[in-house]
Amino acid sequence: MGKIIRLDEVTINQIAAGEVVERPASVVKELIENSIDAGAKKIEVYLANGGRQKIQVVDDGSGMERDDALLAVERHATSKIRTLADLQQSKTLGFRGEALSSIAAVSRVILQTCADPAVPGTKILVEGGVVRAVEPVGVPRGTNISVENLFYNTPARLKFMRSIPAEVTNIKEIVTSMALGYPEISFRLFHHDMELLHTLGSGDYEQTLEQIFNRSICQELFPVEGSYGPLRLTGFLGRPNIARGNRGLQYFFLNRRFFRSRLVATAAERAYDTLLPVARFPFLLLNMELPLDLVDVNVHPTKMEVKFREEKEIFRGVLQIVRAALESNVIATQWRPQYKSTVLSRVPRPEQTPMGVFPAAPFGEEASSLETVSGTGVTVVKENTPPFAETGTLKGPVPAGEVYQEVALPAEEEPEQGGDLETGPAPSGNQVGKEQGSDRVFSLFDTYLLWEDASALVLVDQHAAHERILYDRFRSGPRLKMQYFLTPLMLELTATQWETVKAEEALLQELGWDFEAFGGETLILRSGPQDFPVPEVEELFLSLLDELGGSSSGREEDPKDRLFKLMACRRAIKAGDRLSPQEATALIRDLRRTKVPQTCPHGRPTMVVITKTEIEKMFQRR
Ligand code: ADP
Ligand code: MG
Repeated sequence: MGKIIRLDEVTINQIAAGEVVERPASVVKELIENSIDAGAKKIEVYLANGGRQKIQVVDDGSGMERDDALLAVERHATSKIRTLADLQQSKTLGFRGEALSSIAAVSRVILQTCADPAVPGTKILVEGGVVRAVEPVGVPRGTNISVENLFYNTPARLKFMRSIPAEVTNIKEIVTSMALGYPEISFRLFHHDMELLHTLGSGDYEQTLEQIFNRSICQELFPVEGSYGPLRLTGFLGRPNIARGNRGLQYFFLNRRFFRSRLVATAAERAYDTLLPVARFPFLLLNMELPLDLVDVNVHPTKMEVKFREEKEIFRGVLQIVRAALESNVIATQWRPQYKSTVLSRVPRPEQTPMGVFPAAPFGEEASSLETVSGTGVTVVKENTPPFAETGTLKGPVPAGEVYQEVALPAEEEPEQGGDLETGPAPSGNQVGKEQGSDRVFSLFDTYLLWEDASALVLVDQHAAHERILYDRFRSGPRLKMQYFLTPLMLELTATQWETVKAEEALLQELGWDFEAFGGETLILRSGPQDFPVPEVEELFLSLLDELGGSSSGREEDPKDRLFKLMACRRAIKAGDRLSPQEATALIRDLRRTKVPQTCPHGRPTMVVITKTEIEKMFQRR
């Protein structure tokens, strides 16, 4: 007798169930999809013991006739497609015809359904895939399916069930996702007597969001809408302040099918860029529409993943559309400093105005209060009207192509005195730019800059702000200039650092580093980026290697961007550095000119705005 036998139907279904029905949440998903496909307007889900004991889904959809109901619990029985060609065109959520049979194979199912209220409905009892009873029953139009004792006959599966709260959380996520994808359907979820979710099915997206999420989330959402080639995208995005430590608040739909996608998540997160710190993930509700021939939905048994034909184009499209929405809703509308010209700093004035050492480097080429005078071979920076000459506290950036040096002012060029600290705004001679205004900038703890803007108190973190300015400049500017060291540096590298040097040679050279192996563990470093003082350069180089060698956390990042962030951080003025009024003004002005003034390159805020209304509330004037 041969060794090969044909498996019986029940065994086949139990094996298939392993793919389709992983846990209670998968059952819920399949049943809800069937209800949606049946045109239900109202779907109710009842759970007992996290779904282990019972999952009941009641809908008001089309229902089934007796014979269809009997077929439905058989494997590969579907009303939705007839041929493979139909599959490609299928707009229904189900089409494989294996959900009901799989579920019925590993549980006890009571199916009650009615397609026409004029005739009695049908009740079917299935146990472990075997139909035990079929009888007429008086039920309203629709389907009521109860799945009990899930996995009772597959002990291996049963062992993998998680705790009741964990299963409930999972189910709630599935129902939430479905409710978000179908605002025109009313969803209700109960665990025993506890209602966990209720949407009214008005069809209105904003109402549905409010029925699902609390106010603190809803008020931070804004719509996104756009097209990119054949891709159309609509939905809602969350402002950075409601980002999470995981991707729990991301919902993607493709042609109304809920799916998961690393590609889409990464593209959208890339659009947030430095608006978010690493390992923070935004709220995303994205409804994508694509012609059916540009996507294969049948690559996954539970259809949770899809295969895009043009992955790169999808990535670009999502990135662009999300970016545009962020630009008009987060970057542009949040507060941008209104640059006002006259700045009075409360920065304490040095006892005696020193002979004057200019700030080593002002904030770049826009520092219009500084004029450049050519001296003998060196470029001398001359300050127009410094109210308070100060020693160069600023290790600021040098705009590409210009060289600033610390130079002592010749005696006769001693800066004239500007505005008086005690008596109010600096004279007009101190104005920078054309705008008129009377804002005063204060320095707090030598770390924050404070001023009044229109009807708000604005606080800026000087380090974070400078980081943002430098990062933008590194990223958008021309190639970094390099400086050769008089004496090359000899560095001892670890094995890991050596690997990084070899792997990232081109990138490091692009940033101005010239080096070669010396023998043994030693590396000769001949040059580095121009903006960095030589004493700091060795440490910077090693930090860059460690940054490149270390794994980036969470979101994928361009290695160059990671280096720019690190360099911006190292180069930026620090908390505790005392700024001159010009520097303070220039900092604010330059910050305003950056693309994303609200956050530093690591995603932390550069500024905090407290509105007049908020202040009034604090003092109970409102
Ligand atoms: P699929 O959804 O892939 O077709 P299923 O096993 O999930 O396969 O369902 C089999 C068939 O049973 C469906 O094609 C549909 O005709 C019918 N059916 C299942 N659930 C319902 C429901 N809630 N209301 C009406 N018909 C249903
Ligand atoms: Mg189905």
